[in-house]
Amino acid sequence: MLLLGAAGLLASGAARAAGVSRATLTQEGHRTRLALGLEGNVPWELAAQAEPPALLLDLPRGAWRGATALAGAGCVTSLRVSNTRHGTRLTLLLTGPIATPRVQSRDNLLMLDLRPGGGPAFARMAAAGRLAHSPEPARRQTASLPLVILDPGHGGRDPGAIGAHGTHEKRITLAVAHELKRQLEAAGLCRVGLTRSRDVFIPLAQRVEVARRHQAALFLSIHADSAPPESARLARGASVYTLGETASDALAAALAKQENLADKAGGLRLPSVPPEVLSILFSLMRQETRAGSERLARLVVAALDDETAMLPHSHRRAGFVVLKAPDVPAALVELGFLSHPQDEEALGKPAHRARLAAALVQAVHGYLARQQQASLVGAAPGAGLP
Ligand SMILES: [Zn+2]
Repeated sequence: MLLLGAAGLLASGAARAAGVSRATLTQEGHRTRLALGLEGNVPWELAAQAEPPALLLDLPRGAWRGATALAGAGCVTSLRVSNTRHGTRLTLLLTGPIATPRVQSRDNLLMLDLRPGGGPAFARMAAAGRLAHSPEPARRQTASLPLVILDPGHGGRDPGAIGAHGTHEKRITLAVAHELKRQLEAAGLCRVGLTRSRDVFIPLAQRVEVARRHQAALFLSIHADSAPPESARLARGASVYTLGETASDALAAALAKQENLADKAGGLRLPSVPPEVLSILFSLMRQETRAGSERLARLVVAALDDETAMLPHSHRRAGFVVLKAPDVPAALVELGFLSHPQDEEALGKPAHRARLAAALVQAVHGYLARQQQASLVGAAPGAGLP
């Protein structure tokens, strides 16, 4: 089974299949026991609250499948379920301070044993923050996941397009990239890197190098469009770009002519063969990368089409520098037109950006699933995927 995101990630979208199937609250003498049946790897986090005295158990959004309230027992007055910004929260209101809870987590069962305790010790517990949390997933598993590089367009002294109401493209692209990273990591099927995580200027070539140096599985550049004033009222909707055929051929040709090809291709392990063979190998690799980019773009168009207005001929081709890595499939998505008032307003809303990010998650997952299949059936690198 594929692992969930790192523990402590209680973001929405995590553990859609995993959840809490049942909950019981029982009393035996001085001990009150909360038992939760966990299906799958549900990440959880336990903390104490001083006033009113309570225990807080945080779960991913949607993980809770029990009733929204449970009657109290022993030192628990009541159990309430609520939604917070980070997910679902179980609040166990207590009759008074308790001793440090005994937490047992095994065989899909999470048990909290509670006993009354001293006030000062409970206050310290509440001040300490997190009391206990689900076990961290193994580091190795995470390291072997494919790497997705997200490239928030522009930044720093380069604001990108500026909307009719002053929205800077660089802010929208960064906000979407952060949201997309969060959602992808919560789903746990890939690792995610950003070419920039702050408002800084990064040259285009450097953005491509990040993806190549880390042998990324794919590169997704995130932008928002702008149309000239005369068509600002008309042009709207999202579109996706891949590298144009002629542009990439020209690049391949130019690169192939370089005498220091291996060095220019940085990190490519090219066999020592005659230059003409090398040129063929290079062109095969470029072809495979192009096929991957095209597939990625088709998936992005299909996913976005359900969520937002699309520009006619949504899949376009052009010679964007950030799409020119010969060995990393890449696409550039324009999420809408900042020059169009409705698009600008929508892109300014976190909820709209979250929906766009969710659509992009779908596309990325679709791409990676197919890629994994291909490598499972033993498609040799360079053999060219259909
Ligand atoms: Zn842009």
